[in-house]
Amino acid sequence: MTDKPMNTINTKVCPVCGSSELIPFLSCEDFLTTKEVFNICKCKSCNFALTQDFPAEDEIGPYYDAPAYISHSDSHKGIINSLYHLARKIALRSKSKIVTCHASKKTGMLLDIGSGTGYFLNKMKSKKWIVTGIEKSDAARKYAKQKFGMDCQNSEYLYDIPAKTKDIVTMWHVLEHLEHLNKVMEHLHTILKDDGVAIIALPNKDSFDAGYYKEYWAAYDVPRHLWHFSPADFKYLADRHHFELQEIRPMNFDSFYISLLSEQNKGTFMASLVGLVKGGIFFLRSLANKKRCSSLIYILKKK
Ligand SMILES: [Zn+2]
Repeated sequence: MTDKPMNTINTKVCPVCGSSELIPFLSCEDFLTTKEVFNICKCKSCNFALTQDFPAEDEIGPYYDAPAYISHSDSHKGIINSLYHLARKIALRSKSKIVTCHASKKTGMLLDIGSGTGYFLNKMKSKKWIVTGIEKSDAARKYAKQKFGMDCQNSEYLYDIPAKTKDIVTMWHVLEHLEHLNKVMEHLHTILKDDGVAIIALPNKDSFDAGYYKEYWAAYDVPRHLWHFSPADFKYLADRHHFELQEIRPMNFDSFYISLLSEQNKGTFMASLVGLVKGGIFFLRSLANKKRCSSLIYILKKK
């Protein structure tokens, strides 16, 4: 792809706090597909960051067309891939535990927004949850159907869900991709039951690795990641949408994975090895300060 998108979204007002003082923060390359440069702005008032002039929903499709983005392959070739599959297995178990630990009941109605190829839904189905998935990629929905017999819905379905019908809504690294941030947060509140729980995983721009890698930090992932959160500004957003932040949990594997990709972005010799070692250091440092971990899981309850 060589042409810049025609239809881009220029944000003039901070979607978190409403301030119009957005100042330049970083210029990042789209390392994954186009090598185009996108600017990230920071809100002077609340410190939230956002990708400026990102392609609108109808034009962003090609930016996802990269082999590396298909993290769903079942190939076990190569050590990185094997590690990835092991990590996925452990991560699935950990996600399932988080649901069990925070849900107000043993089973119920669970919605996973951005359900991808359906591994998490399948895991929760095996734990007797009644699961629904929303996934915008046709290929991923097809995979979920073939592999698990799972019928996932497309994006529009979110707004057809009746109010107060979900016990758990999960978004694993999804919210940062969604153009209509406030609309989604508002709707999340609507569809959750009064004792429902939202579980939202996001990259952490206040992490040790983000501070170290700066414009090479793989979790800026422009222009696919539109919003760049820290614990403070996500708490602010949640609060505005009448959610109480119950707990923050670190996603430890991301320290390794994101460092590895960031070293690749920098073009480092033996990037995988260097990334894993540095990721290990960031992981160890974040043990003492979990709010500086590469990715965080936010547990929200309705106020
Ligand atoms: Zn702001």
